[in-house]
Amino acid sequence: MRFERTTIFVTGGAGFIGSAVIRHLLRDTAARIVNIDKLTYAANLASLPGAAEDPRYAFERQCICEAEPLRKLFEKYQPDAVMNLAAESHVDRSIDGPAEFIQTNIVGTFTLLQEALRHWRSLSPERRARFRFLHISTDEVFGSLGAEGLFTETTAYAPNSPYSASKASSDHLVRAWRETYELPTLVTNCSNNYGPYHFPEKLIPHIIIKGLAGESLPVYGDGQNVRDWLFVEDHAKALALVLERGGVGETYNVGGRNERTNLHVVQSICDLLDEQVPTGDGARRRLISFVKDRPGHDRRYAIDASKLEEDLGWRAEESFETGLAKTVRWYCENKHWWQAILDGGYQKARLGTG
Ligand code: NAD
Repeated sequence: MRFERTTIFVTGGAGFIGSAVIRHLLRDTAARIVNIDKLTYAANLASLPGAAEDPRYAFERQCICEAEPLRKLFEKYQPDAVMNLAAESHVDRSIDGPAEFIQTNIVGTFTLLQEALRHWRSLSPERRARFRFLHISTDEVFGSLGAEGLFTETTAYAPNSPYSASKASSDHLVRAWRETYELPTLVTNCSNNYGPYHFPEKLIPHIIIKGLAGESLPVYGDGQNVRDWLFVEDHAKALALVLERGGVGETYNVGGRNERTNLHVVQSICDLLDEQVPTGDGARRRLISFVKDRPGHDRRYAIDASKLEEDLGWRAEESFETGLAKTVRWYCENKHWWQAILDGGYQKARLGTG
């Protein structure tokens, strides 16, 4: 069994991707997991059904910016690996209030690196050789593409939003801790994720929920911005593979070769909702409306994931069509999960107009 006698710290494990990583590791491997999460607005422990009863799982409510309590967790659990997914992650929120992004994404990653380094230096040579620090990042650090071309691992960084600039900064810190202190780090840069348990303010769940309610469906600008979509469970599997077999000091791009315009995404959701939950009022595409664009809205992202595919044998299992159909079905069948978030005060309001 994979990850036998291995304890993994997953930071941000109550978030969208972190919870998918923990569900995968508990279901498909022997890893022991410590979920370290501050529980911000984006967190939801209901995204980890059954985990609390699993003897291989522990939860610690903790901010990654606080060195001393983090040190105690390293001493208590003696982890073999860290997967860093704790972050402020929403571009629109970073436009309205960048301070939290600087704090968690930069200062938090720095603090976690320092405590991981201290722990790593205390290990036996054999455990030190096995230890890994995997930092999870985004393709947004590369900036925006024109109509052609793909981001590779050697594309120069050119972040455009406070979010992507803070992530770029954290990626550089991780690299420097490897080069300077020899901490065994790896970095992954992934394209846009979607799937079950996605917070309602992100494009795909936002449109599904508004489409179910028969409300107007806002599309930024002309709807022609392109994103390369990856089903979150494919991302979680890629991360486990990189942790297990990735080369120390390497970076890996993760993407599903699923470039779609935002307008295509919204139209596809309308069609799936019409199929799965028909209404008497006609096709939901009529609800689409174009709204003012996001400031600094990157035009196109697209990932070349061939290094991950060729070196580690990873393949995305879901196409955009199969993954989106599963996602729409999940939101239709799990209203209690997202309704609880709406009832908790989240208002579906427009953010990030600058
Ligand atoms: P998310 O916002 O859903 O979850 C982030 C989690 O981190 C939350 O549970 C939150 O409580 C926790 N957190 C925030 N600040 C913290 C702090 N100071 N200390 C401890 N925990 C804290 O984010 P996500 O979409 O799951 O993204 C996870 C990671 O993957 C991020 O680093 C993000 O940059 C990266 N990423 C996301 C995408 C995407 O499409 N969502 C794509 C590529 C990369």
